[in-house]
Amino acid sequence: MRRVLDASALLSGASFDGELFTTPEAVAEVRRLGSTPQLDAVLATKVRVLSATKESLEAVERTARDTGDIARLSPTDQGLLALARDLQAVVLTDDYSIQNVAARLGVRYEKILERGIREVVTWRYRCTGCGRFFEEPTRECRVCGSKVRTTRARPGPPKPPSK
Ligand SMILES: [Zn+2]
Repeated sequence: MRRVLDASALLSGASFDGELFTTPEAVAEVRRLGSTPQLDAVLATKVRVLSATKESLEAVERTARDTGDIARLSPTDQGLLALARDLQAVVLTDDYSIQNVAARLGVRYEKILERGIREVVTWRYRCTGCGRFFEEPTRECRVCGSKVRTTRARPGPPKPPSK
């Protein structure tokens, strides 16, 4: 099965089955949010990056105007929907407006959190020397200069580092 991944699907850290696709705009969005070596590897090996056709982009825009979702759909969202229409793929998204327009377009969608995934992974960055956490991806600790590792963290309030 073909699946089109939105930015939050890409960032979820979850692995998805099938042929995976996304758009150049969604990749740019992910990079703005902070990429990790793991994510780069996924993008390089598992996910094909394609642009939607003009015809599908126009169909998406028309439909989004009909449903009243147009103001809530970014150009990135519209591109993902249009690509899913082109490829007859399933869109992976938790965005309600994308789901709504997908339903109207006859494009199938799956919610990221409803695919039996227990938790959405967020990435954190921890210094291997002093143990400090950083929110932004970084290679080197700005306090002690040691290497910083990417770790998975559960959503919610950050826990104090365990000993
Ligand atoms: Zn450090």
